[in-house]
Amino acid sequence: MDSTIIWLQANAPMKPLLGQPCNGCGVCCAAEPCPVARVFLWQLRGSCLALEWHADVQQYRCGMLVQPATYLRWLPTSWQAWFAKRVRRWIAAGTACDSDALAANGALSEDQT
Ligand code: SF4
Ligand code: SF4
Repeated sequence: MDSTIIWLQANAPMKPLLGQPCNGCGVCCAAEPCPVARVFLWQLRGSCLALEWHADVQQYRCGMLVQPATYLRWLPTSWQAWFAKRVRRWIAAGTACDSDALAANGALSEDQT
């Protein structure tokens, strides 16, 4: 078990338990980049560049879903919907929380072994 400090909006929802519905808390993407971020953004560690805070709904959203052309300059704007559809499938967006990270006293404990 290792520890990682992550920074999130104070108004972000608390992370649900593993398997509960995703509530956009942002913990997983702030802790480490997912495979989509590794492949398309070449980001191997740290908080994902595409993690966006949406104040209107007080939740985090995946920018690679919302506006991928902002992060991928080679992607034509007209292809955004097509690409986002694939990202949605790759990251299984809108399903259950698949992060086993634990938040304690404001710090995130994450098993990195
Ligand atoms: S998958 Fe889990 S940790 Fe990631 S944003 Fe959704 S609820 Fe939060
Ligand atoms: S690409 Fe999207 S789902 Fe993956 S880590 Fe970044 S914000 Fe999260």
